[in-house]
Amino acid sequence: MKLIELFEDVNMDMDANNKARAFVDAVVGYCLNKVQPALEEERYSDIEFQFSKFNGSNNVFVWIPSQQLGLSENFRFMITASEDAGDGGCYSVFGSGIPYICLKLNNLGFEHGKILTYDDLKVAIKQIIFNTKVHTILKHEYIHYLDSFRNKTMMKQDDDYKEHGKEYYNSPIEFNAYYHNVADVLMNFINMAQKQKSKEAILNMADIFKIDANFQKMLERCLEKSPAIIKRFYEMLTDKNKKALYKRLYKLHQKALEIIKDSHR
Ligand SMILES: [Zn+2]
Repeated sequence: MKLIELFEDVNMDMDANNKARAFVDAVVGYCLNKVQPALEEERYSDIEFQFSKFNGSNNVFVWIPSQQLGLSENFRFMITASEDAGDGGCYSVFGSGIPYICLKLNNLGFEHGKILTYDDLKVAIKQIIFNTKVHTILKHEYIHYLDSFRNKTMMKQDDDYKEHGKEYYNSPIEFNAYYHNVADVLMNFINMAQKQKSKEAILNMADIFKIDANFQKMLERCLEKSPAIIKRFYEMLTDKNKKALYKRLYKLHQKALEIIKDSHR
């Protein structure tokens, strides 16, 4: 079975997306409740993250063990602007041993290679809390993290692609991670609608999420809600991968419409 076929199951997609959402929630919650207050009050020793040297370099990374985030998985969440973390927007997994999910702050306008100060962190942590672009990046990287368990040989780091061109966007690993970003509106709707009991609540939600019965309109809606990088992904897709994207999105769209229809029974 090809890796790409593993990625076409709606329930597996939903499961991965729910986990990614839980990761983002955990990061936001931890930053809001622990890191930000400690930084504001200069209680640096209270902060349960560490400045650490990675691979013997002198660059500074901040890493938070997943257990501190209240997650049962075993990885480290890393915040850095270091050049050692590659020039890709961020990394999901690298080095050996414990995997890292990395947020590269040059995505947020920090100078590449910058050694972070507490003041830099104050700015960055606020972004992590409220900036939905950061949440999109975090989800993307978390999907890479999950995929790394499926097929290690097919993992290719963002960094391996010197520039983000056609080859990068069309690789199976990036295709899957960006697919999750594009499908976010539909997946969020399905996830939340499934928890509702009344027909009114589901219809109201469909309205708020602008769920359209027309697939083409729904696709436009998914892209319109996305940051520029996601639109670029869509534009860079080969015809074959565009078809693959439609196929997967179509299944999700059908599922969303079914939930709305079922609410009328
Ligand atoms: Zn990626």
